[in-house]
Amino acid sequence: MEPRVEAGIDYTIARRRMVLEQLRARGITERSILEAFMRVPRHAFIDQAVGSKAYADCSFPIGYAQTISQPYTIAFMIQALSVRAADRVLEIGTGSGYQTAILSLLAKEVFSIERLPPLFERAEAALTGLRTGKIRLKMGDGSNGWRMHAPFDRIIVSAAMKEEPSGLLEQLGEEGTLVVPIADRGERLWLFRRTSGRIVKELLAKCAFVPLKKGEA
Ligand code: SAH
Repeated sequence: MEPRVEAGIDYTIARRRMVLEQLRARGITERSILEAFMRVPRHAFIDQAVGSKAYADCSFPIGYAQTISQPYTIAFMIQALSVRAADRVLEIGTGSGYQTAILSLLAKEVFSIERLPPLFERAEAALTGLRTGKIRLKMGDGSNGWRMHAPFDRIIVSAAMKEEPSGLLEQLGEEGTLVVPIADRGERLWLFRRTSGRIVKELLAKCAFVPLKKGEA
């Protein structure tokens, strides 16, 4: 996916440490997820000056008051989502595009929406040139999903909603799952599952995400 050494830095060492120490040691056991994190060059989605610190155990500013999520947070959400190779996945909040790249290696196709034009353009540029899976990007407000391509097998939201994602749940297929941070009383990460026509909701963890903004930027 990339040259082994860039500007004198061997990023594969930093990436392997990230996978072992931040992900596997904390309960990310799904092999395909660990392999995807091993393949995607996280530094390609962060300001070049950050160098191999791109693989540190934290989120980073990506401009416009937004952040690229901590690797563990992304892995935890994706493991809870349980993406299968035949799945069509909708992602709300492309941000840097890093999570989009990871998802694309696990799923059949990823549809991702970003509201802020400069981040949309940067993510598009970062993803072009990498050998990822199939990805379709769209600029705009993703809070109501992407009706034209619905239903989706999996939906993942990377910014905190204020209420339950009723519009997105309408675009979730049968036996589909949706992972979303909701900030109502405190901020928590929830898993919604559509099963036998019903929606079942499960609390996953406490969390902290940037807020989902409605309307055009
Ligand atoms: N997983 C991403 C997270 C980026 S932060 C990463 O690791 O890079 C969340 C992103 O959601 C921001 O880029 C923000 O602009 C975007 N966002 C917020 N509200 C949105 C909305 N209504 N529709 C689409 N994107 C939105």
